[in-house]
Amino acid sequence: MSETPAGLDFIRQRISEDVAAGSRVITRFPPEPNGRLHIGHAKSICLNFGVAAEFGGLCYLRFDDTNPEKENEAFVQAIQEDVRWLGFDWGDHLTHASDYFEQLFQLANQLISANKAFVCGLSAEEMRETRGTLTEPGVNSPSRDLSVAENLALFREMREGKHGDGSYVLRAKIDMSSPNINMRDPVLYRIRHVHHQRTGNDWCIYPTYDYTHCVCDALEEITHSLCTLEFEDHRPLYDWVLDNINLNVHPPQIEFSRLGLEYTVMSKRLLNKLVSEQHVAGWDDPRMPTISGLRRKGVRAPAIRDFCERIGITKQNNTIEMSLFDFCVRKDLEADTHRAMCVLEPLKVVITNWTEDTQGALSAEPLTAPWHPKKDLGRRVLPFSKEIFIERSDFEEVRPRKYKRLSPGEMVRLRMAFIIRCDEVIKDDAGNIQELHCTYFPESRSGSDKSGLKPKGVVHWVSAMEGQYCDVRLYENLFLEKQPDVSELAGALNPASFKQLNAIIEPAALLGDIHHFQFERQGYFVKDETDSSALKTVFNRTVTLRDIRPG
Ligand code: ATP
Ligand code: MG
Repeated sequence: MSETPAGLDFIRQRISEDVAAGSRVITRFPPEPNGRLHIGHAKSICLNFGVAAEFGGLCYLRFDDTNPEKENEAFVQAIQEDVRWLGFDWGDHLTHASDYFEQLFQLANQLISANKAFVCGLSAEEMRETRGTLTEPGVNSPSRDLSVAENLALFREMREGKHGDGSYVLRAKIDMSSPNINMRDPVLYRIRHVHHQRTGNDWCIYPTYDYTHCVCDALEEITHSLCTLEFEDHRPLYDWVLDNINLNVHPPQIEFSRLGLEYTVMSKRLLNKLVSEQHVAGWDDPRMPTISGLRRKGVRAPAIRDFCERIGITKQNNTIEMSLFDFCVRKDLEADTHRAMCVLEPLKVVITNWTEDTQGALSAEPLTAPWHPKKDLGRRVLPFSKEIFIERSDFEEVRPRKYKRLSPGEMVRLRMAFIIRCDEVIKDDAGNIQELHCTYFPESRSGSDKSGLKPKGVVHWVSAMEGQYCDVRLYENLFLEKQPDVSELAGALNPASFKQLNAIIEPAALLGDIHHFQFERQGYFVKDETDSSALKTVFNRTVTLRDIRPG
């Protein structure tokens, strides 16, 4: 094997050699519009559009719309939205397999005329039974020896709607004893009397993926047909079709490994099931590995592109750690995301020494804080009042050793504000903590601290008067196991994958047109555009600040 130059995966290596030898670069991303795109598709998108851009070529977005029962126009639109959002542009090169239905039909007639295809009357069941196994050859169809004229006539009748669904198929005439089952007279066309989202009722026969894909690649003069490893066994058929039809173009099919990601599933069949059985709220549920779900969770396109670049392109199938994905998400958000304070599980603190003077002093010189610790995103005002909220988990009545938060008699700094000391814990009759009574130290103001006090730590807080209620949604892994056993989907799901809290957020965070935040000490969050209303803002947690996933 030749050495791959640093930075070039085996596909880019191959393409750069072909380019050096004078080849153009034309690729395609060929989704089936039967679901929304997922992070696995993103890998293929980044590769196909990526190499086209790197080598001065072009990339088609081609919808593989040959299964009208399962496909629809809404998915066609959603896929375009997702590809564009990921940062890729197909320019004028948006196509559909259905654009080529007439050519596919004519080429099939050529195959029949060349005695390379025949119309078969076996039922689906009978075809399964005669296909053979990995160890046994298949059996020739009784229709295999029909004359060319008979086949042409039958195929025309199929196209004209004279026959019912499943009564006939067109099959390639290859070899029923081939060790590769894909070569045992595979089906090229089946009868389906169904409406197609683009061609309406023009057709009642539809070409199969294996026949369609290679022909479309040739018609679009694709120079490198990049697909995932499960198509390796289909390559001989891809080549057979192109060798036996009259198109002087024969793209090479090159396979790479599929992306698998821990704690989730990537097959559209399973994602569809999650949606239809309502295990999730929809294709764009933030727990889904879909592009739309990740976007709604607050992941940005550069993070996904960075992730795809880091995992690289190889021939080894493997499952990538979720922590790598989270790392890319944090890295993207860290540099320019507004900081804000939001108390997820509020505990009330009453500042007992609050006076009119305090009020006056703060009105004259309000507390402010920068939106970002390093990047200049401006500052916001932090209203401070007699009653504030801190996080319930930032108080312990019995102070654990080395505890860095608040407990009776101890001091903490309220971030960007003052030091407080807890003097009294107020409880209800049942003994539940209702509120804390604290003293604040005016001379400890953040930025001009002259108090000399040594607080135990720093906690975030929000003014009870000015703070705003919001819903905060926390998401965990959708599945319990790294490699979920999907034979029993419901049992494999993580019952704690979603939790909603009634939180309190500092007012400035809701004023402007800012969508992504880092809630100090809590993680990255994004406003949920779908479920937020004028009355209440909803935030989705994008990612925690550190890795807290199990093992
Ligand atoms: P699924 O098995 O999830 O239903 P699919 O392959 O049937 O996926 P398509 O819409 O046909 O879905 O996929 C379009 C392209 O995306 C194909 O070229 C396919 O190889 C690629 N692709 C799909 N899943 C992955 C993945 N997990 N990793 C990399 N590429 C993928
Ligand atoms: Mg597919």
